[in-house]
This record gives sequence, C-alpha cells and structure tokens, in this order.
Amino acid sequence: MAAAPVHIRATLLPFGAEPESLWVVDGRITRTPQPDALELAPPGGFLAPGLVDAHTHLHFVDSPTARTGPAVIADNRRRHLQAGTLLLRDLGATADEVLGLAEDDGLPPVQAAGQSLLIEERFPFFVTAAKELPSAAASQARAGAKWVKIFADWPGWPGTQQEPNFGPYDPVTYPTATLASTVQAAHAAGARVAIHAFGREAAAAGIDAGVDSIEHGWGLDEALIDKMAARNIGWAPMVGIAPLMLLGQQKVAEPLPGQEDWIRERLAAMGTTLNYALRHGVAVLAGTDWFPTVTLADELAMLHKVGVSRVDALAMATTIARRFLGVPALDEGAPADLVLFRADPREDLAHVTRPELVMLRGQVVPLTRKAAARRHG
Ligand SMILES: [Zn+2]
Repeated sequence: MAAAPVHIRATLLPFGAEPESLWVVDGRITRTPQPDALELAPPGGFLAPGLVDAHTHLHFVDSPTARTGPAVIADNRRRHLQAGTLLLRDLGATADEVLGLAEDDGLPPVQAAGQSLLIEERFPFFVTAAKELPSAAASQARAGAKWVKIFADWPGWPGTQQEPNFGPYDPVTYPTATLASTVQAAHAAGARVAIHAFGREAAAAGIDAGVDSIEHGWGLDEALIDKMAARNIGWAPMVGIAPLMLLGQQKVAEPLPGQEDWIRERLAAMGTTLNYALRHGVAVLAGTDWFPTVTLADELAMLHKVGVSRVDALAMATTIARRFLGVPALDEGAPADLVLFRADPREDLAHVTRPELVMLRGQVVPLTRKAAARRHG
C-alpha cells in the first residue's frame, strides 16, 4: 500500500526567499495540492534537495590508502545519509566493490569510478601505461563505472616519491592525444572522465582532450575556465583539504620547497577564480575528498572563507551538482530526496550537516542523536 501523501511548507534552498508548499506522493515531489496530506514538519524551515558530495572516496577511513572494504563503504554511506548527503560521486576506490553497489538499498546512491588510473606503480591505483589507458577506461565503464578517474599529473613522475606532495610542478602523466582517445573510449562505453590535475598544464591537457571534470584544478585560470564553460566541463576544487595539506607539510621529512607558499597563494586567489567560474556557468562542485576527516560542512565553510557566497556554496552542494550529475533537485516528479533545516544554512553553513529531517526517495531517515550532534553540536 502506498504511503499517505505528505505536505511540507518551507523556504526552498539555495535561492528561495519565501516559504512555498510542496507535497510528496508515492516517493515523488509534486506542487499539486493534496487535500488529505499529513504535515511532514512544522512550517518555517528551510528545505534543500539532498546534498551532494561530488568527490569522495568511500573506502577512506582516516587515511587515503588504508586497505578497507565493503563494511567501510557501507559505514561511510550511512554517515553521509545522516548528514543529509544523498548523492555521492566516488572518484577513486581502493578496490572495485563500489561499482556493484545497489541503487535502492536505503543508502545514498553512488556514481562511482573504479580504481584510479595512474601511470606509475603505487597503491591503491590501477597502474596503467599510456598505451593501455583507453582500453582500461572502457573496461571500467563496462564493469559499471559511471566515471573514470585519471591522474593527469603526479608529483615526482617519472620515479616514485615517498610522499605525494601535490603542487604546481607535478609533471603531466599522459599525452593530450592519449587523454583524448581515452575520453572517446570512455564515452563510447557510457562513462564520463574526471582528471586529477593540481597544476595548470594537466588541466589544460584535459580540457583540450574533452574530459568531463577537473578535480582540484588549483592551477586553473580565467582562460581555461572560459574553455570549460564552452565545453560543459565541471570543476571540484576541494579547498577543504588545504589546511590538512599544510599540516602534512609540517610532518614530512622533506617538504617540497615552495609548496606551502603555493598552497597559500592559490587559496588567496581561489575566491576570484571560483566566482569567475560560477558567473560563467561552470558547474563548480562541492567535494570533500577526505571524508570523513573533511565533511561537506568543512568544504562549504572553506569555500566561503576563500570568497564564495554562502548561497553559491550551498548551490555547489545541491542544485549545481545535481544538474551536472544528471539528477533532479526539487523538480516536479523528482524522487523526494530532501533535507530540512530549522535554521537557514545561508546564515551559518555549519547547519548544513545537522539537518532536522532527511528524506531519501520519499522515506524519512531515522536520525541518530550522535550523528546530528557530531562535530558542531
Ligand atoms: Zn580524491
């Protein structure tokens, strides 16, 4: 038997100014009034489409390279669910389990890449020579990957370093022509292509090759962003990891000269670059990268700190990301993936990960006190 229709009256995020009504019928959103609907929550709240972490690694615990498995993936998906993050893009797993996750198991759905493709030998990457890159991408797509993740630059390549100190001089790993034929192979097999590119040169190569998104992209400038806007290439900047990168610099035995200055300089310029990208219609996406160490609230707070408005930061974690990933927001007929806040997160982004109510595909998610109070409570 179908659940009774429910009604909710709230200010719609990220851009709404006045409370509006919407209803959920059979798990889907409608603006058509339902006379017998039950009230889902008291009026006066702020309602967002489910939050999106557009660059996460579900295998992570507290280290990007720990060997974990399905239990950690499920645990991280539950944490995301409790925080109202209802759509995930996994951009680089330590094993291919993320490719087989169910879409309807009561946890946030995942648009997953399999193992990241890297030119040199290093766990947890899928070591891939240039000539193998197109076929590796196609075979990941055939195995169920919605995304293929390629490291387009890598510190110290060729040769292996002790610690990956990402920076401006990371050598480009694959020729542009190789990236271009890989994009063609991935697209033909039904996957999109994301590249890790800290430096400018790798980002430029990827943009010329027609990739679908740039990850980090701390070397992007306005000329490259113009090309991204014309080609509908997204950008996940992940500024929330910068404080941890700076901390990491203090821990490594031989930090790269100039790297710390570079991080600080890029952060100082990032607000201008991000606002330029947003104004020119580039899909700028909120991603945590180091979840659960870095939360979506941390990323949004950092985006705001570098100069993005709170409204735009919220759009990067909701409407912009959903559109880019091909998933509806609060549209008529959309699956009811909803997050309700009592206080307006546009006033304080810390509210973003402590929702009052979470609904995934029309089902209210029981929130645990611990999750709601986590970090900021
Ligand atoms: Zn990442």
